[in-house]
Amino acid sequence: MESDIEQVLWTAADIEQRVKELAAAISRDLASHTPLLLLGVATGAFMLVADLARHLKLPVLVDFIRVQSYGNNTQSSGVATVSSCDAKINVKGKHILLVEDIIDTGVTLSALVDHLLERGAASISVCALLDKVCRRRVGLTLPSNGRLYAGFQCPDRFVVGYGMDFAEHYRNLPYVGVLKPQVYQSCKS
Ligand code: 5GP
Repeated sequence: MESDIEQVLWTAADIEQRVKELAAAISRDLASHTPLLLLGVATGAFMLVADLARHLKLPVLVDFIRVQSYGNNTQSSGVATVSSCDAKINVKGKHILLVEDIIDTGVTLSALVDHLLERGAASISVCALLDKVCRRRVGLTLPSNGRLYAGFQCPDRFVVGYGMDFAEHYRNLPYVGVLKPQVYQSCKS
């Protein structure tokens, strides 16, 4: 698995340090938004949810929600379908921190924010490890009492690790990196 990686963009130590900083900012800014529902976007956010939860100095609830993924591709389908039945906790009246591995076009998060507002969320903030700002197609509009926390700006490259996959592999790498081109080619053939 490690031998498939061409370049490490953020090491495990880089990520640990940044997640601690994000958790400190969230604990300070959202101190009155408790209990804070950490709503991870499955599956990619599972590591960030676990690490954030450990460092947040707030009472939290934890749940996951599922949206359509990229499948075995590296390009967004441009459509995000939210399957509400996956979130066990009723979001009505809850203060929510949506936790994403990466924001790319913004389609997924926009759909999720609309979905949660329709269901009566009291506030929605977002925390993503990575933000591919240059790829944004849909502006992310949060309610006035919501905030956006992003760990690192990501270049326009397809990345894996720290929860993020290629064809469901590489999620358990403790760092974020880019695959060697021959890995994609061998998957296509
Ligand atoms: P968006 O809807 O913002 O275009 O896409 C967000 C979702 O696409 C992320 O939650 C993630 O699952 C997937 N995604 C976007 N860019 C990447 C990437 O570089 N690597 C991986 N593994 N997934 C990505």
